[in-house]
Amino acid sequence: MDTASENCSVKVAVHVRPLIGDERAQGCKECVAVTHGNPQVQIGTHSFTFDHVYGNGGSPSSAMFGECVAPLVDGLFQGYNATVLAYGQTGSGKTYTMGTGLREGCQTGLIPQVMNALFNKIETLRHQTEFQLHVSFIEILKEEVRDLLDSVSVSKSVTANGHAGKVAIPGRPPIQIRESSNGVITLAGSTEVAVNTLQEMAACLEQGSLSRATGSTNMNNQSSRSHAIFTITLEQMRKLHSVSPDNGTPDEDMGEEYFCAKLHLVDLAGSERAKRTGSDGLRLKEGIHINRGLLALGNVISALGDEKKRREGVHVPYRDSKLTRLLQARFILYCYAFHAFIESEHDSLGGNSKTVMIACISPADINAEESLNTLKYANRAR
Ligand code: ADP
Ligand code: MG
Repeated sequence: MDTASENCSVKVAVHVRPLIGDERAQGCKECVAVTHGNPQVQIGTHSFTFDHVYGNGGSPSSAMFGECVAPLVDGLFQGYNATVLAYGQTGSGKTYTMGTGLREGCQTGLIPQVMNALFNKIETLRHQTEFQLHVSFIEILKEEVRDLLDSVSVSKSVTANGHAGKVAIPGRPPIQIRESSNGVITLAGSTEVAVNTLQEMAACLEQGSLSRATGSTNMNNQSSRSHAIFTITLEQMRKLHSVSPDNGTPDEDMGEEYFCAKLHLVDLAGSERAKRTGSDGLRLKEGIHINRGLLALGNVISALGDEKKRREGVHVPYRDSKLTRLLQARFILYCYAFHAFIESEHDSLGGNSKTVMIACISPADINAEESLNTLKYANRAR
């Protein structure tokens, strides 16, 4: 039995996108090689091995979903939280891969595939289980959290601060990350939209993506400098039956079992260095903030991925950025089954949750330095 990899809570995949029009127009050559039959990738004299490598044409999106993300969706139904992170320089294909863009990847991206799988599975279980789904969509820019769904009409939404059916107030203060005296971190004030159908969930994704794109005068800069986190919360209430020892058929009604889990799907800020984003003070400051999130994430993931460190109970530096605090946050949620607010038992990064990082790279020679940086960063997570 492959216990080592079963227990390992962090998996790392690399996605090498094809050369794009711009790169072809500039006469770029490919400088990244993917080894056939092995999850290996070479750039120059450097060679790296990951859990999975996708690239060199083909149609990797369904394989990537099946191997990296589908198990996390299944885990949700057992109550396991999970996080999928797309990392890489601006233009490397993070948004395309996640499917958080408005046009591109809207069919093939990971989030649309998650939605399909989720609703298909719910359909097969509906006869025995009650489900309730919520989504939230937030963005972290310059260490501030912004609600991307606060203009969605939220007839059935419940926010974390407890107001059912609340209609969002434009320009309300940024969402707060709160820490209670017992050290539990929660997110206060983000909109949680109740969704019943695939179409409703897709509408939230689209609405949030639109809000992300129009939230700034310069959409490319904005979306490349912010982390976008689309979160699906699945609650389920299952009827329990005791099983007759004689014939194995369900016998007596034993009450109900409740599960709740969250899946975070994260389109990270561009990983390129601050010096590339401009020389004026403001941009540099934003660059530093972004690097703080990505730096903290790298440290957290590397601490989580190191089994020896984990056994020794080494400190995991969640507190160093909003991004890592937020991904670590437990959640407070309105539980329809109990008509009460409950606190989740698990964190979404570390603990018994599962994390997949997808490192996105361009194959073009002009991006070789950043691609190598991305592979080194991803390699630390293993
Ligand atoms: P990022 O979000 O990392 O900045 P994007 O997802 O916006 O990058 O991708 C940059 C460009 O590359 C887009 O024009 C997109 O269409 C293209 N692209 C990304 N991934 C792929 C892919 N797998 N196949 C084809 N084109 C892709
Ligand atoms: Mg993007």
